[in-house]
Amino acid sequence: MSSQGIAENLRKIRERMARAAGRAGRRPEEITLVGVSKTFPAECIREAFEAGVRHFAENRVQEWEGKRGAVQDLPATWHLIGHLQSNKAARAARLFDCVDSLDDAGLAQRLDRARAPILSGRAEVPSAKKLRVLLEVRLAPEETKSGIAEAELPALAEKVLALPQLDLGGLMCIPPFLEDPERVRPYFRRLRELRDVLAQRLGRPLAVLSMGMSHDFEAAIEEGATEVRIGTALFGGRPAARE
Ligand SMILES: *Cc1c(COP(=O)(O)O)cnc(C)c1O
Repeated sequence: MSSQGIAENLRKIRERMARAAGRAGRRPEEITLVGVSKTFPAECIREAFEAGVRHFAENRVQEWEGKRGAVQDLPATWHLIGHLQSNKAARAARLFDCVDSLDDAGLAQRLDRARAPILSGRAEVPSAKKLRVLLEVRLAPEETKSGIAEAELPALAEKVLALPQLDLGGLMCIPPFLEDPERVRPYFRRLRELRDVLAQRLGRPLAVLSMGMSHDFEAAIEEGATEVRIGTALFGGRPAARE
């Protein structure tokens, strides 16, 4: 994909985002576009950055380790959105600004520990900043594997809030893939309801709802998404085998 292709794709996506926001009486600035760069080379990330994208997401720690050297100079925010194995948690905590797919208390603890200030001699080297995390909720247990069950959400949220290096931003979901976005809409609505109930229970705001991908982001925005994760509509098609 040429850089003009990415810039042109971005322009169209932003237009559609603005229209969806308008339909819901929201301001377009409330919604962050996260470019999902998995399987695409670092040059595509740079092109998208030059076109105006400031958030990027990868789904594999190892793939990001291979690419990040080439784009480290970009002042962007880097998200992990894929399932994280516990043996990679420490690396993930150092290589990403946000982990949007947190679904396990043990994992949360490992991320927290890896992010903690390093004690060197007597001086404390402060860690850069807290790791922003989202809790991934499994809304269709029969169809998807990752994420935690709705019933376990409050307990996990409370554990995460007790960890000093983690900043609980909100919730994320990956609904089942359904061709018709209108059939995905109920999942988006459900995530927002869960967020509202959880925020009330915790007595603190949970601003972030990460939901909506290339084929359904408009419905997600209408239902309250604050972050949409866009891969193919921005970068083009991915080779199916590597998803
Ligand atoms: C790949 C991926 C996306 C982007 O999907 P597209 O359909 O290409 O926009 C979004 N979220 C997650 C978790 C993904 O793995």
